[in-house]
Amino acid sequence: ERQIPQLHVFFLPLLAHGHLIPTVDMAKMFADRGVKTTIITTPLNASAFSNTIRRSKESGNDIGVRILKFPAVEVGLPEGFESSDMMFTSQEGIKWELLNKFNQAMFMLQQPFEQLLQECKPDCLVADWFIPWATDAANKYGIPRLVFHGTSFFALCASACMRLYEPHEKVQSGSESFVVPNLPGDIELPISQLPKYSSAQDVETDFFTKLLKAAGEAELKSYGVIVNSFYELEASYVDYYRNVMGKKAWHIGPVSLCNRENIDKTERGNKSAIDEHECLKWLDSKQPDSVLYICFGSLNTFSSAQLKEIAMGLEASELQFIWVVRKQKNDNEDEEWLPEGFEKRTEGKGLIIRGWAPQVLILDHEAIGGFMTHCGWNSTLEGVCAGVPMVTWPERGDQFYNEKLMTQVLKIGVSVGTQKWVEREAIGKAVKETMKGERAEEMRNRARKLAEAAKMAVEKGGSSYSDLDSLIQELNSERKL
Ligand code: UDP
Repeated sequence: ERQIPQLHVFFLPLLAHGHLIPTVDMAKMFADRGVKTTIITTPLNASAFSNTIRRSKESGNDIGVRILKFPAVEVGLPEGFESSDMMFTSQEGIKWELLNKFNQAMFMLQQPFEQLLQECKPDCLVADWFIPWATDAANKYGIPRLVFHGTSFFALCASACMRLYEPHEKVQSGSESFVVPNLPGDIELPISQLPKYSSAQDVETDFFTKLLKAAGEAELKSYGVIVNSFYELEASYVDYYRNVMGKKAWHIGPVSLCNRENIDKTERGNKSAIDEHECLKWLDSKQPDSVLYICFGSLNTFSSAQLKEIAMGLEASELQFIWVVRKQKNDNEDEEWLPEGFEKRTEGKGLIIRGWAPQVLILDHEAIGGFMTHCGWNSTLEGVCAGVPMVTWPERGDQFYNEKLMTQVLKIGVSVGTQKWVEREAIGKAVKETMKGERAEEMRNRARKLAEAAKMAVEKGGSSYSDLDSLIQELNSERKL
């Protein structure tokens, strides 16, 4: 009898933490179902995840890694620039010029990537939405390409509704907010958060507009979409995406729940800037639901002045907190972002982590009672899985939509407001509302139910578990054996 070879899926993530982390988790989920998986990435990114991948291998699940050299120097970037995280800085914001070069280097990966496809002949390619050439490459070898957006169904639906409507022309002057047309739920967006369209874009970011256009076109030619979410979280929007927008999509999340052992929750691509045991010991000494966790993801660009304002708001709120800042103590930048004597005054009450935090480990601790987040989709879902209400403070892109899902649809979040600059009073008010009092309790109860639903979704028979099953089945039936 002829043995049928294992289904083989290639994963091609974007080179940024917010995309690599869920991709590695996704690969693990496929591997747990007996699928052979290979992640294609660059040397530095591969080494960042080597421990997670090694552990997965030891437990008998086949995650392979193939490495492509990243042509940083060829496009005029310094050697070792292999992560787009490096283009987001707190002092200068986004360095568009570097991001443009980074993007050029990404395009240069197409040819060596195609060689890999030819050599390994996988049965499917899951590639990040931001890598438009992936569809052509896969089509060339007759392989279905799945798109991974790394965001919510809600954000996918909302942004599609906005694109169709060209809201800038339709917004009445003087109005402050805008109801997203056709989207279920009468979702309101403040005018300041309307997406910018090419006409409003300056030349510097033009390459980005082109990239978005190419990615959109590539998606239309791809096989389907894979989403890190679960049905019970945003059912109306899953249905809208599939039935009204007519997309072929599978939800397989929350993928972070595939990291059940603590050891895997700690190093998610970066070494923690704090000793994990110390951190947990500190949390163990606190009452349940008494500590606010604050982290704005891997690309936050808040100015020193804004960070200082956060510190003032926090101190005035008298809450206990863990606050993650993307700054090192010995950075050339001084510590002007921290009010004088802040750490002394908040000793025992607050913990500042300078650098990378073991986020999932912290969030899952019972002492954590709230999460101040930028609403990056991974963080948002991790907050949902931990069953905590959120203080929402989006900075850009899909984060504005994810915020609305938390505050307007699920009602488990309080926004700090829609201004670019947020005053300490507004910060203090939002964190207190999220942590204490009747509204906080109601939100916490709803959040806990969602956390339960999330766990059930990825267990045998759950909505995400079944969706992944049917995806694997479909990929098997598409195979040319
Ligand atoms: N993260 C972490 N420690 C940090 C900062 C971020 O573990 O100090 C992880 C976080 O758990 C999440 C990811 O990095 O999985 C960030 O992704 P997200 O989509 O929330 O935001 P982005 O960084 O892409 O803006």
